[in-house]
Amino acid sequence: MDKTAEVIIIGGGVIGTSIAYHLAKMGCKNIVILEKEYIGFGSTGKCAGGIRQQFSTEINIKLSMESRRFFEHFEEEIGYPIDFYQNGYLILANTEEEMKIFQQNLALQDKLGLKVYLLSPQDVKKIIPQLNTEDILGATYCPTDGFADPSSVVQGFASSCRKMGAKIYEKTEAVGIEFKGEKIKKIVTNKGKFETAVLVNAAGPYAGIIGKMIGLDIPIRPSRRHIFVTEPLDKIRKNSPMIIDFHSGFWFRREGPSLIFGMRNPNEKEGFDTSIDWDFLTEVVAEVACHRLPLIADTGIMNAWAGLHADTPDCQAILGEVSGMEGVYLACGFSGHGFMHSPAVGKIIAELIFGEKPFLDISSLSPDRFSRFSFQSQEEKIFI
Ligand SMILES: Cc1cc2nc3c(=O)[nH]c(=O)nc-3n(C[C@H](O)[C@H](O)[C@H](O)COP(=O)(O)OP(=O)(O)OC[C@H]3O[C@@H](n4cnc5c(N)ncnc54)[C@H](O)[C@@H]3O)c2cc1C
Repeated sequence: MDKTAEVIIIGGGVIGTSIAYHLAKMGCKNIVILEKEYIGFGSTGKCAGGIRQQFSTEINIKLSMESRRFFEHFEEEIGYPIDFYQNGYLILANTEEEMKIFQQNLALQDKLGLKVYLLSPQDVKKIIPQLNTEDILGATYCPTDGFADPSSVVQGFASSCRKMGAKIYEKTEAVGIEFKGEKIKKIVTNKGKFETAVLVNAAGPYAGIIGKMIGLDIPIRPSRRHIFVTEPLDKIRKNSPMIIDFHSGFWFRREGPSLIFGMRNPNEKEGFDTSIDWDFLTEVVAEVACHRLPLIADTGIMNAWAGLHADTPDCQAILGEVSGMEGVYLACGFSGHGFMHSPAVGKIIAELIFGEKPFLDISSLSPDRFSRFSFQSQEEKIFI
């Protein structure tokens, strides 16, 4: 016999589990998460764990600020330690134009109550003496930005929603969706059918494939991102901030005794490939990394992995109910910000499902907005 659920969430990443947690907390009893592999297997398990509030749009600043507050109390609230550290994010500007953008962002961040500081190259050098600041004009620094362990966060949400009655089916892949008229009826999986009236597409980079099952063209481009891990390196102090070179996209931070670092690849093709492209390290990243942090030239690489971003044309998430499809919600297209926004997004989607006005105005992230956009540039806009 088919199983039934009040709400079915496709995707057991940080977004799907956060939605399930918030729904369960609001009193929803019969929630099912379908996960084709296992909890945290997707982008969440590959993520750098960064929690940044320095954005250039009001909605993203608010999503980050609300989520940061949640991460600060995650352990008390969920009963799960997540290795949350607020060492700040330091974002470097190389050109006058970038400085102008930084100043505009700062004004908006200040208006929304976020404390961000504009630093000189000399200030930057004091924070990270090993950095080459020759060609830096300035930087912004937000001390309450930070990072947490993504696997602990997703497991925390999953175990907490399970305790409140949610069911998680791992190794269970959604392969089709049945409608009755305009209304959702059943999710077909490799383990049988699940009947529901409410579906949330939280399938990360695979959300476009789920969209196709219901005749929806969701503009999500899966795109590979790498993380490289150096051998132990004690020259960079333990509590140093996350550094991002805005111009190149090169970033690094301490992780245990090592550094982790990465960079966007302007030539990365759309696709689901998560193998490691070592040529990208030697031919592209190495030059930028050695320029910005010269000591890296003498440091070995101990490990690396790659995962997928789910990029949208405007590098912003897609959140909300699909017009004309009652009970179908999208929570996808996080374009590299899904981990940091997961607590606020979980709450918003739960509120929408309960028929409540969400605590933040998410109209700018509506699934309907895409008739106005097309993919043009591979460039990642980190501030969005
Ligand atoms: C290298 C890298 C570094 C990153 N760093 C950061 C960072 O510092 N900060 C930040 O905020 N974000 C970061 N991100 C982005 C972040 O990882 C994602 O935005 C976030 O994890 C998205 O979570 P999700 O739950 O939407 O997707 P996922 O974690 O991918 O979860 C989706 C799940 O859906 C499952 N699924 C797919 N199709 C089906 C199906 N048909 N049936 C059942 N299950 C299905 C998948 O197996 C997967 O587990 C990074 C990403 C990468 C790759």
